[in-house]
Amino acid sequence: MSEFDFDLFVIGAGSGGVRASRVAAAHGAKVAVAEEFRVGGTCVIRGCVPKKLLIYGAHFAEDLKDARRFGWNVPDCGFEWTTLRDNVLGEVDRLEGLYRNTLDSHKVEMIPERAVVTGPHSVKLASGREVTAKYILVATGAWPIMPEIEGAEHGITSNEVFHLEQCPKRIVIVGGGYIANEFAGIFHQFGSHVTIVNRSGTLLRGYDEQIRDRLLQISMSKGINFRFNAQMERIEKTDDGTLCVHFQSGDPVAADVILFATGRKPNVDGLGLDSAGVDLDDKGAIKVDDYNKTSCESIYAVGDVTDRLQLTPVAIREGHAFADTVFGNNPRTVDYDCVPSAVFSHPPLAGVGMTEAQAKNKLGTVKVYTSDFRPMKYVLAGREERALYKMIVDATTDRVVGLHMIGPDAPEILQAAAIAVKAGLTKQDFDDTVALHPSMAEELVLLK
Ligand code: NDP
Repeated sequence: MSEFDFDLFVIGAGSGGVRASRVAAAHGAKVAVAEEFRVGGTCVIRGCVPKKLLIYGAHFAEDLKDARRFGWNVPDCGFEWTTLRDNVLGEVDRLEGLYRNTLDSHKVEMIPERAVVTGPHSVKLASGREVTAKYILVATGAWPIMPEIEGAEHGITSNEVFHLEQCPKRIVIVGGGYIANEFAGIFHQFGSHVTIVNRSGTLLRGYDEQIRDRLLQISMSKGINFRFNAQMERIEKTDDGTLCVHFQSGDPVAADVILFATGRKPNVDGLGLDSAGVDLDDKGAIKVDDYNKTSCESIYAVGDVTDRLQLTPVAIREGHAFADTVFGNNPRTVDYDCVPSAVFSHPPLAGVGMTEAQAKNKLGTVKVYTSDFRPMKYVLAGREERALYKMIVDATTDRVVGLHMIGPDAPEILQAAAIAVKAGLTKQDFDDTVALHPSMAEELVLLK
């Protein structure tokens, strides 16, 4: 008999926590997972999944318009936010059910309560029950940051945006990162008047500059408004419910909804981590070693709460590696090199490896190949929008060290191409591959 109630107690049933629970249980561990909200975490409940479904919904605006050029007799179509919203939320419920089934079928005990760490091997549940475990895994994710300005309580975050009563006629989106650009595209396609308010002059820091510029150019030409270097002063709610964003300089902007997309901070508040000597970094993220172990021998952490790469597939890998290491007798670390990522903006962009600037800094001499083209279907549709693909090559070794693209289906194409970049293939290897014609992806093997 073990001296503990469980071999593993997981706090948080999101992407990382569920994967770790399932794999640890499959290795024979007795596992419990506590979740105070819904099973599935940010990705399934209020992030990647419902967002992507809204992106699909938004795309119909242009697709229905373009269809006429392809001979379809499309009558005037109206968009109903509540239909899409309810269908998306229904799909989220279905997926949550699948996640619960996975835990059930692996005999993981699901505890629908908040859990707080009380020591290296103990947690206390909201009901007052105390539980002990040989190991504790913290997988509590991250939470949206609200800027500290007067009237901020009138704004919402990505947590609430999927539940709006109606589609806003005017929306101000604060921030210039992933969430801001994705929801700007979504609401613009639904017919909202969209204004992005960004504190700096830079969108999507970390992505290749030319690709970011292309997104800005296309977004502006579609009619999305931008306020750069804008310092917000306060948000005022007027008698008729209009929200008015006031700035330190320049005219105020009126909106029906204000969406804050100003980053996410690790979810550690009130978790009791100090009771077990778990160290945090200066941003409040849990510090872990390569094997996801914290400064406390028996406590591990994975996913956004560790603020390494705030991406679902990374959290899943970390959770899996943790379970294999601790319960599978197979110590594994996660390889963070060449992790592809995408922004599901409108059009989407995606990248893997080094940007041109990073490669120049690191390697000195690089060769840059670009293809700037109008996708075939846009030519017939009479749409001026151009795609841009960019390949960064180490001039000394001919190795492709970065691929960046913006255009239709860029994330789908980049996922496959990322395998070649990760594998260290050369520009010559790309050139040796015969084009698949006609496709957009063939540009990758035709770069001159
Ligand atoms: P991001 O980190 O992408 O962007 C945050 C933005 O908010 C930046 O433009 C930043 O400006 C600005 N900002 C930060 N603090 C403030 C402040 N106090 N006042 C005003 N502006 C501020 O965060 P998101 O919220 O968009 O997304 C959170 C994370 O979720 C992402 O980093 C990503 O890891 C993940 N995510 C991934 C997606 C995907 O893979 N497709 C989709 C959605 C989210 P500056 O650049 O000047 O610092």
